Amino acid sequence: MLNSMWKAYMDGIGAGVFLIFFSARLDLWRHRPERLVNLWLATAAFSALLVNFTGVLSKTIDAGGYPIVIMFNLIGVAGVVVSLLELVFSLAETTPPRLIRGLEFLLLPLTVLRISEIAVIIIVAVLLLVTLFKAIKSASKGDADVRKVLWGLTVLLICLVSDIAHELGLVSVPNYFPVLGFIVFFLLATHAVNCHLAKEESAARTDPLTGLLNRRGFLELSRLVVSIAERSARSFSIIMIDLDHFKRVNDKFGHAIGDCVLQEIATILLRGVRDQDILARWGGEEVIVLLPDTGVNGAKTFGEKIRTSVEELETCHGEARICVTLSLGISEYHKGEPLTDTIQRADNALYHAKSSGRNRVEYLAFTDNATGTGDLIE
Ligand code: GH3
Ligand code: MG
Ligand code: MG
Repeated sequence: MLNSMWKAYMDGIGAGVFLIFFSARLDLWRHRPERLVNLWLATAAFSALLVNFTGVLSKTIDAGGYPIVIMFNLIGVAGVVVSLLELVFSLAETTPPRLIRGLEFLLLPLTVLRISEIAVIIIVAVLLLVTLFKAIKSASKGDADVRKVLWGLTVLLICLVSDIAHELGLVSVPNYFPVLGFIVFFLLATHAVNCHLAKEESAARTDPLTGLLNRRGFLELSRLVVSIAERSARSFSIIMIDLDHFKRVNDKFGHAIGDCVLQEIATILLRGVRDQDILARWGGEEVIVLLPDTGVNGAKTFGEKIRTSVEELETCHGEARICVTLSLGISEYHKGEPLTDTIQRADNALYHAKSSGRNRVEYLAFTDNATGTGDLIE
């Protein structure tokens, strides 16, 4: 009596939880359709809801007389299995093999038409095994997000298997175990998906070689600084930095050592900037810095400091001793101009630094007449 009350209670809670997961993830997926992990979490929750509802229904009415209830129950089971498989593969950033995709598509007609329940059970078992295999493989390679899903899957499978054993009279477990297993799974899977998306988001703004922001990350962060400068007396400066004759370093020592030199320069720059400065790899061997609340004098002082610290640096890679220098171009934001104009002026100043001998800092002032063609002031 107490057991069946708990079962009814847990079924109700389960339905609510599945519905919340389903609607929340579907909404997230609608806003960013390329994030398939949200879709798979939504379909898994919807399928669990279907299994839950048809399970309760088949216990209440005589399911034998309502084949449609059994059909929807099977569709729910198939939906859960396919969603779990796709979720694990999406988190591992791969796609399932063609044969497995074929089996997934085969499940739909088999469950709807109820052609062969044995075939459905076999395919479901194969897909589950593939999911587990993939999850174990990725987790053992150090994928922390898949590992969380694997824990969830383990709890879910233990709950489902013990429920089947209970039905067969082999063990005695509370009959709300399957719902409990699904709730634990969704909590862990949601955490994994959130971590995965946060990493993806940060990777989209980060340069993988140097760990600096990339161009996209720079432009996103600088938007706020520009809008503050636009509405206040505060200004900011831009510095474009380019390594001198870097092609020679690559040609002489090889691309791999060139990469190490780039990483070392990035570390020096990172150490040199303040917390509020925005430092990013603009492309190739070019770096950009936005110095908020900094006029041209402050930017020149900073630029000189960076230039000399790199000039004095001698990096050793095995036998090779490498010295590099930097050329820097500075511009100061002029109220009302687009950021691209300020960047273009810094780029033009950099061009002047190159043409007047390299290893130097140049500043280009704003002039009314044309973009980026201000007066050169050293
Ligand atoms: P300059 O003083 O005029 O800037 O000469 P430079 O040789 O630095 O300029 P150039 O634009 O001719 O060549 C840039 C070089 O930077 C060529 C390219 O191989 C190298 N480079 C760009 N990105 C990378 C990278 O990620 N790794 C390595 N190792 N080299 C890179
Ligand atoms: Mg260069
Ligand atoms: Mg360059």
